[in-house]
Amino acid sequence: MSQVSPEDFAQILESVREFIRTRVLPREREIADNDAIPDDIRQACKDMGLFGFAIPQEWGGLGLDLAQDVELAMELGYTSLAMRSMFGTNNGIAGQVLVNFGTDEQKSTWLESIASGETVASFALTEPGAGSNPAGLRTKAVRQENGDWVIDGSKCFITNAPTANLFVTFARTRAADADGPGIAVFLVPGDTPGISVADHDRKMGQEGSWTADVHFDGVRVPATALVGGSEDVGYRAAMVSLARGRVHISGLAVGAAQRALDESLRHAAVTTQGGTPIGDFQLVQAHLADMQTQLMAGRALARDAAAKWVSEEDRRIAPSVAKLFCTEMVGEVADKAVQIHGGSGYMREMPVERIYRDVRLLRLYEGTSEIQRLIIGGGLVKQAKKDAKQ
Ligand SMILES: Cc1cc2nc3c(=O)[nH]c(=O)nc-3n(C[C@H](O)[C@H](O)[C@H](O)COP(=O)(O)OP(=O)(O)OC[C@H]3O[C@@H](n4cnc5c(N)ncnc54)[C@H](O)[C@@H]3O)c2cc1C
Repeated sequence: MSQVSPEDFAQILESVREFIRTRVLPREREIADNDAIPDDIRQACKDMGLFGFAIPQEWGGLGLDLAQDVELAMELGYTSLAMRSMFGTNNGIAGQVLVNFGTDEQKSTWLESIASGETVASFALTEPGAGSNPAGLRTKAVRQENGDWVIDGSKCFITNAPTANLFVTFARTRAADADGPGIAVFLVPGDTPGISVADHDRKMGQEGSWTADVHFDGVRVPATALVGGSEDVGYRAAMVSLARGRVHISGLAVGAAQRALDESLRHAAVTTQGGTPIGDFQLVQAHLADMQTQLMAGRALARDAAAKWVSEEDRRIAPSVAKLFCTEMVGEVADKAVQIHGGSGYMREMPVERIYRDVRLLRLYEGTSEIQRLIIGGGLVKQAKKDAKQ
């Protein structure tokens, strides 16, 4: 059950939409050129509660459920994806580890400042050689005699690492065994001695959102930093947070596809060749028709997956189906949008050029398209085998 009534949610959605359309859209070039989100936009996002839209109200968040979260993501996807990334980890992959697996003490220590944006939380799972297969991670956490843990290892591509005050850090406490993969998750304040964050990566797109390598060199945390107070929570917490995040990303993809289509329609209506608006050419109309069709299918699928998450009908296969379809869909839609813009679609000042680069990431993180296929195919076959035994 959502903590937010449909009426209140309609108001939240309307104010976010108005903010994005009137205040963020005109600044997209500035965000990309400066590779930074302007302070006034960051502050406005805090004021609107966007750092904590998916954090329950008892800890100061807006308390949206995933069905509402996806509607919001469709609005956020309409502009520079970097803006969403600024508060994406607080609400999503990092914040949800605490919401769903933290002890009461851990929740009361961190969640309010995550929801307000005072704390920026990063999700530190990926390592060189352990991306698609996080079960292979090598960062180690060793329990000390006094109960503290000491963490050593390296992470890569960690979103918001350069500004993070909290690293939700996955580390191995033992080799995988019959009881599980041996992965725990720790709440590591960003200023803990032994943490170093490298210069931020230079990326293909989403300028204004920073990722970086993070190194843990003898990082000591108290026993209370172990999420859920159990060494066996980590892997499951990562999988649940990622699955939930996939539905959110589906919504983002739909928002970005809508923007690419809107830009293309505007362009097709007014740009002429030999005096004829290019939108009158049937081959251009065919592109637009395909974009609209793909977009509507993606929107319906993202909403369906979100509903199945909220009702708990399917929290495994449907998120991967939605992410796979919607992120591949927006790749194709963005490509067509560049095509409709002709040579100008290749130019930096055109929103479709940015969208084309921004959305490429959606097929890579929180599980590549190949990994989504493995989850879907593997899940279906597992069920079929079970059914065959009955
Ligand atoms: C901008 C950005 C932000 C990110 N933010 C974060 C973050 O905040 N926190 C975090 O922990 N991580 C983050 N990541 C990491 C991201 O989740 C990984 O890059 C992603 O999961 C892929 O892992 P990899 O890069 O190691 O690629 P690999 O796993 O090496 O994949 C390379 C290719 O091999 C394929 N492949 C791999 N295994 C299989 C298999 N079993 N079967 C078939 N194909 C396979 C993949 O699909 C892919 O095509 C981010 C990455 C980027 C680029």
